[in-house]
Amino acid sequence: MGARIVDSSGGLDITVRESPEGSVLHFNGCVDERARFGTVPVPGPNLIFDLGGVALINSLGIRGWVNWMREMRDKSFTFRRCSKAIVDQINVLEGFLPPTSFVESFFVPYHCDACGGGEQILFRHGEEFEKGTADRSGRVSPPTGAECPKCRARMEMDVIESKYFRFIRYRR
Ligand SMILES: [Zn+2]
Repeated sequence: MGARIVDSSGGLDITVRESPEGSVLHFNGCVDERARFGTVPVPGPNLIFDLGGVALINSLGIRGWVNWMREMRDKSFTFRRCSKAIVDQINVLEGFLPPTSFVESFFVPYHCDACGGGEQILFRHGEEFEKGTADRSGRVSPPTGAECPKCRARMEMDVIESKYFRFIRYRR
């Protein structure tokens, strides 16, 4: 069972579910000025954020998010299924991810030149990527032969790799 926090204006929908690994917060919608992070219950020291449903983040949403992260600096975070909107922010904004956070998985957009279709492919820590540490730089190993779900042609990554994977290679 989970609590459901729905912003009345419908910008961002956050659902909280308890699991053996901790509280899992599912985010869906747009992180903008309507997001009321202060009303979200955040029980326990370890939080898991499922961010696969975040479609868009604007500058006012970022401000609210960063303030919220600062208020929770005593907690540790797992970021799961980060959408492209989230990865873009992780890459450009120092402080978007708290220092006590771990990116478990994130989506990479792929495009099919043959039919114009595409798909989001999940990259998982320990599988398709490994984050850099103080002693070694990170690694990205994209799945070989990503097939278009519609026409079975081989898809290409639809991001600029040096930018999109920046947060993985970055050493702290
Ligand atoms: Zn295709």
